[in-house]
Amino acid sequence: MFVVMTVGATEAEVLGVKSQILAEGLTPFDHIGEGRTVVAVVGEIGPRKPALLERFGRLPGVASVTPISRPFKLTSREFHPEDTVIRVLDTVIGDGSLTMMAGPCSVESRDQLFETADAVAAAGATVLRGGAFKPRTSPYAFQGLGIGGLRYLAEARERTGLPVITEVMEPNQVDIVAEYADILQIGTRNMQNYSLLRDCGRVARPVMLKRGYGATIEEWLMAAEYIVSSGNPNVILCERGIRTFETYTRNTMDLAAVPLLDRLTHLPVIVDPSHATGKRWLVKPLAIGGVAVGADGVMVEVHPNPDEALSDAEQQLDFEMFRDLMVAIVPVHEHVRGLYHPGTDG
Ligand code: PEP
Ligand code: MN
Repeated sequence: MFVVMTVGATEAEVLGVKSQILAEGLTPFDHIGEGRTVVAVVGEIGPRKPALLERFGRLPGVASVTPISRPFKLTSREFHPEDTVIRVLDTVIGDGSLTMMAGPCSVESRDQLFETADAVAAAGATVLRGGAFKPRTSPYAFQGLGIGGLRYLAEARERTGLPVITEVMEPNQVDIVAEYADILQIGTRNMQNYSLLRDCGRVARPVMLKRGYGATIEEWLMAAEYIVSSGNPNVILCERGIRTFETYTRNTMDLAAVPLLDRLTHLPVIVDPSHATGKRWLVKPLAIGGVAVGADGVMVEVHPNPDEALSDAEQQLDFEMFRDLMVAIVPVHEHVRGLYHPGTDG
C-alpha cells in the first residue's frame, strides 16, 4: 500500500508514518515527488490490510492510503509518477534525449575495442558497450577477456569520454565490474538470478536489466524491484526480444513492451534490436521502430569486421551501417520526442 502525505506534511509527520510501518515489521520507502511525499509500505501485509489502511489513514499528515494490487511497488508509476532520469558522466538517460549504446558484442582486443569506440563516438553514440564476461550457450565458445576486457573498456572511456556498459554475470564479479564500468548490465539469462539482482542493488552504479527471454513484463518488473528495493534506484530496462515459435529471427522483439512499460513504470527503457533479431539488416528498422514507440534509446552491436567477430557475427553492424543508422534514427527521435516527453522537443 502507499501512504500519500498531505501537501504540507512535515518531516516529523513523515517520520511518524515510517516508524509505524517499521513497528509492523514492514519496510517504508519514501518518494518526495512534485508536491507531496508518498511512502510505500513494502512486505507481507496479508490479513492486516484493512486494519492498517484505517490506522495509517488516521496518522497526522496523511492525506490517503491506497491499497496497491500490483506486485511491483517501487518501480511503479503510482509510487513515482515522474520519469527516472539517470546521469552517467556527461550522458543523461531517460530525460527525452536519445541514448545510443554501441560497441562490440565482445571485447576481443585493445585495437578492436579502440577502433570501434572511436568510430561509434564520432558517429554520435552516447554510451560504449562491450562484453568482457560473456554468457555463451556453448562452454567451448569464446568466453570473453574477463578483467583484461574491463581494463580496455576503462581505457576506451578515457579515450572517448563515453561511459561504458558491460555485463556482470555473477555476484562475485559485481565489485570488480563496478570498479571499471559506469553501467552494469544484467543479461537475459540472469534476469531472475536473485542474488545477482540484490548485489547489483548495493552498488553505486546504474544497472541495465535485460528482459529474460522467457519473462513476462511483470516478472521483469519484479526483477527490477529486487534491485531498487536493495537500494539502487537507477535501473534501466532493456527489451532484447523474447523467444517465440518464430525461427526467422533469433528472438521476437516485443515493441508493445515499450509503451506498456511507459505506463507501468518510471524507469527508462532501451531496445536492443541486435539480440532481438540476430540479423544485421533487421537492426536499423527495429531500432527506428523502438524509438518510434517511445524508447529512451537503443543498444546495438558494432564491430570493425563483423564477419570475423568472435561472437554474434551475424548481427553486428560495421561502422558504415552504424553511421547510416544514426543518420536515420536521429530525425525520427526528433519527430516523436514531443509525443512522449511533452515540452522537450525543439
Ligand atoms: C549482450 O548484450 O552482450 C548479451 C549477451 O545480451 P543478452 O543478455 O540480451 O543475450
Ligand atoms: Mn551479443
